[in-house]
Amino acid sequence: MPLQELKRKLLAQKVQLERQLNAIHHDFQQGRTADAAEQAAERENEQVLNSLEYNAAEELNSINIALQRMEHGEYLYCSRCGEEIGLERLNAVPFTTFCIHCANKSA
Ligand SMILES: [Zn+2]
Repeated sequence: MPLQELKRKLLAQKVQLERQLNAIHHDFQQGRTADAAEQAAERENEQVLNSLEYNAAEELNSINIALQRMEHGEYLYCSRCGEEIGLERLNAVPFTTFCIHCANKSA
């Protein structure tokens, strides 16, 4: 059953992202240093962490939506046009909610 396989993939990815987000939060909580040069480096580091966190949170959100769609039996169908997304595409991008045509249109 390919859907079970995809669900396993999504859940594994979800665990990984949650771990990544935890690690980012842990980094944010590390102590400050008084040195001005180091503070600048820390701010830069924080910006990188911010965008990493944003991307991870976005992806996690998409995965949760995909899992919900699976529960409701909507997973195989495009959320925009209702056509089948196709297993080949879902295998490549398991958290997508659009068929290839709609994904290209919205890009
Ligand atoms: Zn579509």
